[in-house]
Amino acid sequence: MSIDDKVQALRQEIRAFFAKNLPPEFARKTLAGDKLTKEEHKQWHALLREKGWHVPLWPKEHGGPGWGPMERFIWEEESGMAGAPRLNHVSQDLLGPVLIEFGTPEQKAELLPRILSSEDWWCQGFSEPQAGSDLANLQMRAVRDGDDYIVTGTKLWTSYAHVANKIFCLVRTSTDGPKQAGISFLLIDMEQPGVTVSPIYTLGGMLSVNEVQIDEVRVPVTNLVGREGGAWDITKFLLGNERLMGAWIGVNMAFARQVRERLEQVGPDGRKRSENAVLAQRVAEVETDLVALRYTTYRVLADELSGKAPGPEVSVIKVRGGEIMQNLTELLMEMAEAEGMVHPLTMPHDGLPVVPFELEHMAQQFFDKRKLTIYGGSSEIQRNIIARRLLNV
Ligand SMILES: Cc1cc2nc3c(=O)[nH]c(=O)nc-3n(C[C@H](O)[C@H](O)[C@H](O)COP(=O)(O)OP(=O)(O)OC[C@H]3O[C@@H](n4cnc5c(N)ncnc54)[C@H](O)[C@@H]3O)c2cc1C
Repeated sequence: MSIDDKVQALRQEIRAFFAKNLPPEFARKTLAGDKLTKEEHKQWHALLREKGWHVPLWPKEHGGPGWGPMERFIWEEESGMAGAPRLNHVSQDLLGPVLIEFGTPEQKAELLPRILSSEDWWCQGFSEPQAGSDLANLQMRAVRDGDDYIVTGTKLWTSYAHVANKIFCLVRTSTDGPKQAGISFLLIDMEQPGVTVSPIYTLGGMLSVNEVQIDEVRVPVTNLVGREGGAWDITKFLLGNERLMGAWIGVNMAFARQVRERLEQVGPDGRKRSENAVLAQRVAEVETDLVALRYTTYRVLADELSGKAPGPEVSVIKVRGGEIMQNLTELLMEMAEAEGMVHPLTMPHDGLPVVPFELEHMAQQFFDKRKLTIYGGSSEIQRNIIARRLLNV
C-alpha cells in the first residue's frame, strides 16, 4: 500500500468512526462553539478510548495509537471538520508529550495513566500579570524547604483552571544570572488549601480563563520536571507543539463550509447573498487563504516526515490559522445580519431563545476567536520570530 493509499484509508476509517459514534448533539455544540460539560467530555473520551484514539499524539508504548505526523494531521483535520470535541487538550497534547520527553520514570508511571483515564485535568500556569509575551519576567517563586518547595504567586489567563484539578507552573527558583536560567517546571495539585481560582468572563460571554492564586503551597521536590532551573527548554518544546496546532485546518474548513452555505442562501433583501460581488470576493479570498495555509502546513509536515524538527515556520502557521478563523467568523456574523448583532450577554435569561442556536452563537464565536492571535504567543511576537529567524532581518 502506498503512503497515499494508507492516508486515504485512515481518513475513511476516521470518517466512518465519527459517523457511527460521534453524538450529533456533541458535534452541533462543538461546531457552534458551545462548551461541552465535563461529563460529556468524559463520554466522548470513553468512546475514543475503546477505539484507542483517545490520545492521538502519544506513542504506542504510552497508550497512544503511535501515529506519525501525517496521521496526526489527518486526525486533527477530520476532527475539526466533523465537529468532534477536543479532549482535555492541555493534559493530552501539552503536558503528556512533555512528561514523555522530560519526566522521570516515576512521573510517567504515576501521571500518564491518570491522563489516559481522564482522572486528571491539567491546566497551564505560565502567564502572570507582568509576564505574558515577556515570559521570562515571571515572579511566582518556589523556595526550597527540605524535600518541598514553598510556592507563592499569581497566574493569569489560565484556561480551564475552573475545571482542572492540577496545574503545571513555571516558577522562579533563582534570581541569580540570566532570567531564563532561574525558572523551573513544577507540577502542583490544585485541590489543597492555598490555591484559589477566580473566573474571568471574556468578551464573548464565555468562561474559559481564570486567575489562579497560589499562597504558600508546599510542593514536593519530586514534582519538578527536568532539572531545577531547566524549564526554558521544556517551555520551548511545549510552545512549539502548541503553535503547530495553531493552523486549525479542520475547524477552519468547517467554518468555511458554513460561510459558503450562507453565501449561497437568500438574504433579507430577497436576493442570493452571492450576488453581492464584494461579499463574494471576500469569501473567495479567505477560502484561497485557507487552501494556501493547508499546503503550507503540508510543507512543514513533509519536513517533519523527513526527520526535521518544526522550526520558526510554525509561527507562520499560527499567525495565518488564527487570522483566517477570525475572518471566517467575521463573515459569518455579518451574514447573520440582524441576528448576528445579538450578543450572548444581552440575551434574555427567561429560557426563551430569541434567535436560532447557531445564530445565537455567531456573535459569541466572533468575539471569542479574537483570542487566537493572543494566546500561545501573540501575532506580534510571532512576526518578530518570522522576521528574525526566517527572513533574517
Ligand atoms: C483566551 C486566552 C487563553 C489563555 N490561556 C492561557 C493558559 O492557559 N495559560 C497561560 O499561561 N497563559 C494563557 N494565556 C495568556 C497568553 O499566553 C498571553 O495573553 C499572551 O502571551 C500575551 O501576553 P499578555 O496578555 O501579558 O500581553 P503583553 O505581553 O502585555 O502584550 C500586550 C501587547 O503588546 C504586544 N507586544 C508585547 N511584546 C512585544 C514585542 N516585543 N514586540 C511587539 N509587540 C509586543 C503584544 O503582541 C500585545 O499586543 C491565554 C490568553 C488568552 C487570551
